[in-house]
Amino acid sequence: MNIVSCEIKLNQNNYHELYITVDKMPKFGTYTKQGEIYRSDSPEGFVEYFAYFGPTSGFGGREKQVHMTDGSVEEHIGGWSSRAGVVNNVYNEHVVDVVIMKNVIRSPVDVGAKGAVTLELATRLVAEAGGTLVKIQGKNYIHEGQKVYGDLVYEVHRETPLDKSNYWYSCNCGYETNTPAGITRNCPKCMQKMEIHKGFEFPPPPEESCHVL
Ligand SMILES: [Zn+2]
Repeated sequence: MNIVSCEIKLNQNNYHELYITVDKMPKFGTYTKQGEIYRSDSPEGFVEYFAYFGPTSGFGGREKQVHMTDGSVEEHIGGWSSRAGVVNNVYNEHVVDVVIMKNVIRSPVDVGAKGAVTLELATRLVAEAGGTLVKIQGKNYIHEGQKVYGDLVYEVHRETPLDKSNYWYSCNCGYETNTPAGITRNCPKCMQKMEIHKGFEFPPPPEESCHVL
């Protein structure tokens, strides 16, 4: 498989994500595990992972044979999709969640598959797409007497020049952004509700151009 292109897009929750277009979807072989997290790396740097800690109704209770790198085979019933922030707490080789799209005729909205890549590949692709990765370590906390580790994630950031001739949003914290018009948004930095501005005038209605005799 080959990577055809990559770009950074603002998703509907006002977060930037890395979209990777490929000619074929990556294939995964055997898995390793750390604690409850199972992981498989493709030769190109794509990563598939999930959580499993015994039979559950996760994934609809699917039955799956998981071939492990040490040659053993595990029989799973269910499992959970997990997320990069959890994987990064148990694996030293960190991953970044991305959206993977196959290079076919695009639907009107860009529909892709949730996926992940190694931090090394993400760093290169995000730079090519004009952005940066910012490491965020979530706070640890106690839940029902158990220590829960905060997610360790790499957020995709891209500064785009603000266009005040269009719709734009501002926050009391100083953050400003253009986003798709007419949608109420919270500030991605402080989560306060942002104020919407309109930098243009709608053109006046056209004058009557024909007369009924
Ligand atoms: Zn703010």
